Amino acid sequence: MPSDRSNGASAGAGDHDGVPPAPPHSGAPSLEHDSEVRDVTVIGAGPVGLSTAFWAGMREASSRIIDSLPDLGGQLTTLYPEKWIFDVPGYPRVLAKDLVEQLRRQTLDQFDVPVHLETTADRVEYEPDPEDPERQIMRLVTDRGDLLTRTIVIAGGHGAFEPKKLPGFDMTPWEGRGAQYLVGEKAAFAGKRVMIVGGGDSACDWTVNLLDTAADITLVHRREGFRAHEVTVREIEGARLAGQVDVRTPYQIREVSGERSIESVTIFHSETEEEVEVPCDAILLQLGFKTALGPLKAWPLKVEKGAIKVDSLMRTSMDGVWAAGDITTFDGKLKLIATGFAEAAVAVAQAVHHIRPETKLQPKYSTNTGVPGAVEGQA
Ligand SMILES: Cc1cc2nc3c(=O)[nH]c(=O)nc-3n(C[C@H](O)[C@H](O)[C@H](O)COP(=O)(O)OP(=O)(O)OC[C@H]3O[C@@H](n4cnc5c(N)ncnc54)[C@H](O)[C@@H]3O)c2cc1C
Repeated sequence: MPSDRSNGASAGAGDHDGVPPAPPHSGAPSLEHDSEVRDVTVIGAGPVGLSTAFWAGMREASSRIIDSLPDLGGQLTTLYPEKWIFDVPGYPRVLAKDLVEQLRRQTLDQFDVPVHLETTADRVEYEPDPEDPERQIMRLVTDRGDLLTRTIVIAGGHGAFEPKKLPGFDMTPWEGRGAQYLVGEKAAFAGKRVMIVGGGDSACDWTVNLLDTAADITLVHRREGFRAHEVTVREIEGARLAGQVDVRTPYQIREVSGERSIESVTIFHSETEEEVEVPCDAILLQLGFKTALGPLKAWPLKVEKGAIKVDSLMRTSMDGVWAAGDITTFDGKLKLIATGFAEAAVAVAQAVHHIRPETKLQPKYSTNTGVPGAVEGQA
């Protein structure tokens, strides 16, 4: 797979406004080896970024992907790798990490798509195309060096995302000692007494998800009631009645105790202040996420409520720049993986038509074309 974790060269990495700065590296390649002018440069290696590069491949356009994170998959990898997804057509259910792997295979194993991880898009400069000075190309300036491209598709999701901290109690001393915000592997909770804190979908989903893994679960929310899918809330109620989950609402954390790591948590009733001590090995804080557009905020894009405004062609207000996925906003916008895939197809069709106006917008059916030049016997 022609991906790298390009490091080293620095070309004016600005204030990333919340995008995690790339850690200092040595020895890994800079972006110099990727000096080709590509048709499409995709910002973001989430599900929509990966599918954007796939669509580019299907249109026989060259592409590359960059992402500030160290792994492919965006939110799916970072926030919920081991959660089931039930609403991607074609999959009755699929684990987030498995969907990312399928997207990786579909895109990177079938097409030549260089991937530069730990690389943040900083700004864009327009310059004449060396092959045709009448036309413009773009220089995408990243914190690892510059990339030349004919078009850009921004699939930057929520930009940088960062878990929200617990209000009213400083959990910092316990982070890494039993308190965590993200779940990498469910197995990390095997046989543990887990306290899950939060009242939204993530807290409720993890409660249900860890029923077969944790030794016992206490679900704590400072308000009565949960803001989650009714089905999940019903499952939690069933688990509570079966004695599998101790649901504590409205309760909040007052104290955490333990020698090296968490051993117990004292919670209190939000109204009566009555205290309960809960033996506990791990606290999973699921309080939502703060998001920031990061360096993209400084681009001359029309932004509405933190998202990039696009028209029905996924066109942004910048010449040669389209956007798709969670980062876009338009009338009727749905923030779903499935709709992001479709937005990516539209953005790529437009971008390719922009580069090669003689090509048709409507692609040929893949049953007839196969995967161009990729799969033996199909090309
Ligand atoms: C807990 C949870 C459960 C969910 N469950 C479902 C579900 O069941 N079904 C469903 O359809 N959706 C679900 N979603 C929503 C789904 O995850 C998003 O719709 C999807 O991830 C959007 O994909 P994306 O590629 O647009 O953005 P993201 O997945 O956010 O990826 C964007 C990528 O862009 C990168 N990036 C941003 N700015 C830059 C920059 N300047 N330079 C370089 N890289 C940059 C980021 O690092 C990130 O990796 C869920 C979300 C959460 C949080």
